Amino acid sequence: MNCPLCSEKPIGEFWRGRHFYAIDAGNDDFPAYIRIVARDHIAEMSMLSPALKSELRALLDAAEEEMLAALAPDKMNWAQFGNMVPHLHWHLIARWKDDGWFPECPWGPRQRPVAAELSRKRRNEALELLPQLAQRFSEVESRF
Ligand SMILES: [Zn+2]
Repeated sequence: MNCPLCSEKPIGEFWRGRHFYAIDAGNDDFPAYIRIVARDHIAEMSMLSPALKSELRALLDAAEEEMLAALAPDKMNWAQFGNMVPHLHWHLIARWKDDGWFPECPWGPRQRPVAAELSRKRRNEALELLPQLAQRFSEVESRF
């Protein structure tokens, strides 16, 4: 099995908990974009125990709260597919009305160009948030 999300050192990992870990997947197009990944190689939400479902939901809620508060996006996008990599992971993406894809989803067609300075500013703010997100995830995990 060659699963990139089963890696001991996934690219972009900024937090590792007992059951889940988090990756910074941001880039110039989507500057504030994280993934929350199950540590076990499971494909579907129904394969999580009720306790782990609750923990995952709390991590996702915490990430959304922190990203809304720190970055003031116009919308938060949550997505879970697993078609390319069938290892349970959620995408959380902060969206702005002037980003390159809005109102399309990030997998849809680009709508407009975005000034490099604006992308860089948002990317820097997102990178600055990562340590705070990691601390919040540890606090959330400690409740479970
Ligand atoms: Zn895997």
